[in-house]
Amino acid sequence: MSRGFRDADQTQAMSDQAVANEVQRILERGRRDPTGAAADGMCQDCGKRIGDERLAVLPSAVRCVRCQASWEQGQAGH
Ligand SMILES: [Zn+2]
Repeated sequence: MSRGFRDADQTQAMSDQAVANEVQRILERGRRDPTGAAADGMCQDCGKRIGDERLAVLPSAVRCVRCQASWEQGQAGH
């Protein structure tokens, strides 16, 4: 039965490592991925800077002016 324990321990260890990796990945993505948008002021559509002026007016903006305009056009079509 010791083999069973070992497998269980190993599975747990791998699981912990996987969780740690996932957390790290999410943290990294929050910093770099354009979809982390609001946090770093990058457009979630094109990945370019939204712009300080726009963020000053709308801190929650997740798209640059251009992408927001085309997104709203898409919404209007519905
Ligand atoms: Zn954009």
